[in-house]
Amino acid sequence: MKYVHRVDGKVQLRDIDSSQDGGMIEDDARKETSRLGKELEELQELLFAAGMHSLLVVLQGRDTAGKDGTIRGLSRYLNIQGVKVKGFKVPTPEEIGHDFLWRVHPHAPQKGMVSIFNRSHYEDVLVVRVHNLAPEGAWKKRYDQINEFEQLLVENGTILVKLCLHISKDEQKERLLEREQDATKSWKLSVGDWKEREFWDDYTDAYDVALSKCSPNHAPWYVVAADRKWYRDLAITHALVESLRPYKDGWLKKLEGMGKVALADLQEFRAGQG
Ligand code: ADP
Repeated sequence: MKYVHRVDGKVQLRDIDSSQDGGMIEDDARKETSRLGKELEELQELLFAAGMHSLLVVLQGRDTAGKDGTIRGLSRYLNIQGVKVKGFKVPTPEEIGHDFLWRVHPHAPQKGMVSIFNRSHYEDVLVVRVHNLAPEGAWKKRYDQINEFEQLLVENGTILVKLCLHISKDEQKERLLEREQDATKSWKLSVGDWKEREFWDDYTDAYDVALSKCSPNHAPWYVVAADRKWYRDLAITHALVESLRPYKDGWLKKLEGMGKVALADLQEFRAGQG
């Protein structure tokens, strides 16, 4: 894929330049994003109408990496009637009392629909690993469990696109400081974000392991250079279009068949009237 780094085997985030711009200038990138966005809109309509597959977009990234901004950007192209956004926060006592996938599975998209996960089941091998929130024996098994869960989804018609928004430590600092200066953004301020920064390297290690262990061919991770928001938006829109495009002909074929049946029904109805 053109603008993202597909994880294939072992990966180290520090080897991937988060400030990449693909040699583009912002204006051109924005134009290309909007062209791709229109294609995304058309593909979503076909996905919805054909009802053969669903799309699950998994967004992971550190605080301020741009998960919310990405969702806002995609909302310009996606028909919200066919989209559900689910954020995963600190688990409730009831959720903690179950296996870690219990709270996730009900939000997997039904055929025809798109689900966007703002954080996901990967938190259970990221924040949980960094802060020892579960015994090591428990979280270590989760990589295999995640792979099996995702395989189940894919084998049942889910098109799974996992996007890791990758920013640098300096960029995060800038974004956090920006929130302090901007009254419209200061509601997002949280001491926790600064505390989590102290675990930057631990998170990097946890991401490296999760991305490396959970990127099989049928459910690969894509690392998105996210320091430049316009490049991030381009990379993500492109990745989604490329992931959906291979299904387009199959959907069109099904819709053609459905159209013929509907037309024949209508003709029969009219003949009966006449
Ligand atoms: P945002 O996603 O916008 O940052 P919050 O500020 O409410 O939203 O952050 C959600 C928090 O929930 C994050 O700190 C994240 O690490 C935490 N979280 C999500 N899933 C889990 C989990 N399974 N176990 C522990 N913490 C989790």
